[in-house]
Amino acid sequence: MRYELRCRECHKSWGNVPKSVCEECFSPLEVFFDYESVRAEFTREKIAQGPPNIWRYSALLPLPENHEPTLPVGFTPLIKSAQLGRNIGSKNLFIKNDAVCTPTLSFKDRVVATALANARAFGFDTVSCSSTGNLANATAAQAARNGFKCWIFIPADLEQAKIIGTQVFGAKLVRVSGSYDQVNRLCSQIADDHNWGFVNVNLRPY
Ligand SMILES: [Zn+2]
Repeated sequence: MRYELRCRECHKSWGNVPKSVCEECFSPLEVFFDYESVRAEFTREKIAQGPPNIWRYSALLPLPENHEPTLPVGFTPLIKSAQLGRNIGSKNLFIKNDAVCTPTLSFKDRVVATALANARAFGFDTVSCSSTGNLANATAAQAARNGFKCWIFIPADLEQAKIIGTQVFGAKLVRVSGSYDQVNRLCSQIADDHNWGFVNVNLRPY
């Protein structure tokens, strides 16, 4: 196995399952790689030969066997910032412009891309998340692209502009009267009841 979930605290191995918390000690689970098996694939030459997006780093991403990417996510430009660099005493300051990331113009597009790859491998037909904006947009867009049903849970007072960025992708949107923490807790309970992949609950390590 190239990667698997392990507990950050007690180091128990869990294999690859939709789970984010260790049932032994309630600590977060994280993806651990078998670096020895990755080493041969992860070379400077192979990265350079890869496509201009995150998939060139596939050897070090938690992606199931035979994963076929459907969107050119990531590889946003580094822009030299001479002015700001002078202010903080740096001659080579670059700022990464994730505001041009495909498909929804935020860094959340990256994490959703790998989470949904695993949602597919686990056999989920519905993906979901709680969000106050960017994660909702990224999940809704990539669910549409990859043929998942999608449910998004948001606090009821979220601004209209952020809601539209999710609705255009056809996701079912549920406004919950409560804080983001309450929305999040509700999602943990729904994830226990329904066989859905929540990108920030049971798919979170991925
Ligand atoms: Zn543990």
